[in-house]
Amino acid sequence: MVAGSTDEVRGAMSARLVAGQKALVTGANSGIGRATAIALGRAGADVVVNYVAGEDEAEQVVAEIKGFGVRAYAHQADVSDEAQVVGMVARMVEEFGTIDILVANAGLQRDAPSVEMTLAQWQKVIDVNLTGQFLCAREAVKEFVRRGVVPEVSRSAGKIVCMSSVHQIVPWAGHVNYASSKGGVGMMMETLAQELAPQGIRVNAVAPGAIRTPINRSAWDTPEAESDLLRLIPYRRVGEPEDIANAVVAVASDLLDYVVGATLYVDGGMTLFPGFATGG
Ligand code: NAD
Repeated sequence: MVAGSTDEVRGAMSARLVAGQKALVTGANSGIGRATAIALGRAGADVVVNYVAGEDEAEQVVAEIKGFGVRAYAHQADVSDEAQVVGMVARMVEEFGTIDILVANAGLQRDAPSVEMTLAQWQKVIDVNLTGQFLCAREAVKEFVRRGVVPEVSRSAGKIVCMSSVHQIVPWAGHVNYASSKGGVGMMMETLAQELAPQGIRVNAVAPGAIRTPINRSAWDTPEAESDLLRLIPYRRVGEPEDIANAVVAVASDLLDYVVGATLYVDGGMTLFPGFATGG
């Protein structure tokens, strides 16, 4: 729950911004993906809840989304597996008729000091965080191009929101695979945006700072860890999944129709070089 906010306020804010659109959110059974899938459903979209493991959580997300009077189903697929991604988008087109919004969110970490990092750790993170986003984007774009713009649904022929990170631009010792994957996501997003904008397709990224989810539990689950983390956040609060979900809904909606190839940092100021507030 967002501090000082209520479901009613959030509902009013999202105001069915993506009514009638069909959205696919990868890694939607947990954390940011879960909150984003729910926020898109609240904002009027039919939603495919992708998961790779954790069917029960995925079904809970589906039930919550259906509570908004829209359609939803869970689909198991590993985003780094080409055939599974092709199958996931094909089923979505069969069941929902098309896809309007892809949120390429699935991601993971396999941390190690660089000299100790195994090829398997390097490869897994690149495969899921970067190649996985590419495969999902490629399949979504095929359908965007086939269908084109449907003006009563959206001004755009399709929207892709890549889940990046402040580590798109902030180096991160001990996480060279993750930082490289997110740096790659930034350049992939900009290249896709440049290539596809003439066809009416908008590709953008949302780059979270420190958000309270299972991926980074050790960074916030003790008071000491949280207070260390807050030194990196000028706004002095750890982000909640809903902070990111709200940004994704806005970027995916026609409200931000002229935003193309942009990275929206949603990070409480983490990318403002906080060390320079008192030094430098
Ligand atoms: P999370 O661990 O709660 O969620 C990650 C999701 O991705 C899970 O549902 C997981 O099952 C799924 N996933 C992993 N491998 C997959 C695969 N091969 N196929 C399909 N799904 C797969 O963590 P989160 O914080 O919600 O992370 C979501 C995204 O946000 C990630 O891309 C992450 O890099 C990014 N992010 C998170 C933070 C943060 O502070 N939490 C900050 C910056 C960026």
